[in-house]
Amino acid sequence: MFPPSFRYFAARSLDEALDLLTRDGEDARLLAGGHSLIPAMKLRLAAPRTLIDLGRLNDLRGLRVDGDTMAIGALTVHADVASSDLVRRRLPGLAEAASVIGDAQVRNRGTIGGSVTHADPGADFPVILTALNASFVLVSHAEKRMVSASDFFIDFFTTALATDEILTEIRVPLPPPGAGTAYAKMSHPASGYVVVSAGALLIHQPSGRCESASIAIGGLGSGPLRARGTEAALQGRALTAEVIAAAAAKAAEGSNPEGDVYASADYKRHMAAVYARRAIEEAARRSARTGG
Ligand SMILES: Cc1cc2nc3c(=O)[nH]c(=O)nc-3n(C[C@H](O)[C@H](O)[C@H](O)COP(=O)(O)OP(=O)(O)OC[C@H]3O[C@@H](n4cnc5c(N)ncnc54)[C@H](O)[C@@H]3O)c2cc1C
Repeated sequence: MFPPSFRYFAARSLDEALDLLTRDGEDARLLAGGHSLIPAMKLRLAAPRTLIDLGRLNDLRGLRVDGDTMAIGALTVHADVASSDLVRRRLPGLAEAASVIGDAQVRNRGTIGGSVTHADPGADFPVILTALNASFVLVSHAEKRMVSASDFFIDFFTTALATDEILTEIRVPLPPPGAGTAYAKMSHPASGYVVVSAGALLIHQPSGRCESASIAIGGLGSGPLRARGTEAALQGRALTAEVIAAAAAKAAEGSNPEGDVYASADYKRHMAAVYARRAIEEAARRSARTGG
């Protein structure tokens, strides 16, 4: 199906993109990889009058270490996150999440910024970035602000991004030595999107006990959920298989998932515990290897 007609601008600078966004307001949409927006336009779920293509803004592409933070440009494609040596070494859970998104074509075109601002409840990056306590840099003509992942994802396809703002960078704190990260996903066999998924960040004490745990679950609601009961059950404990299993069993606490034709609400809650356990076990193995 063809989308409704629209005007197309290829912005040559961030300032120009912001000018166009300010001028056309609610009628304008930013275009990154186009792998969520263009299908939505073809299905007439979105009908922007103006598309502002960010594709030429090379400053918004790439990954770098900035002090104790991994800074990822909003236009960085999933494949570059998945294959980055830096990410695989310092944040393997993030590389894992990027590598299971869609297929090779989606990963070569889709951008991390497009994924988080689109805020699909079945998306992968929101879950792992919530577990990793990431922040999002939002820029408008008026200001530049940082919003934490826990404040960014508001509802189905809804974030804290204002209509005159552009997401320029995702900032992920680099975990200290003795930390482990992991992502485990149950994919829908037809679409590849998340049925349930879990992201984990564990920090070990030198004694081998868990100093802190940050666990996020996808697929149980409008966006990523922090599994606070699971986190509390891991903190201060030696991470034996029994402790991990008991903590993971709390992964769906407080959630109210909707059943659908593929998976009932009970099945999603059950699988959330299974995938939380897998992510925690892998993060624990990695944190033990980094010598905490
Ligand atoms: C077949 C298929 C399978 C997929 N499977 C998965 C999957 O398994 N897991 C998963 O997580 N995703 C999946 N996706 C979605 C994919 O990851 C998209 O690429 C991603 O959601 C959107 O990124 P994009 O760069 O294509 O954004 P676009 O489609 O260009 O834009 C999406 C939205 O974000 C806004 N936007 C984009 N960039 C910015 C920015 N810098 N600042 C502010 N707003 C911005 C746009 O205005 C638009 O509203 C799949 C997509 C397809 C087509």
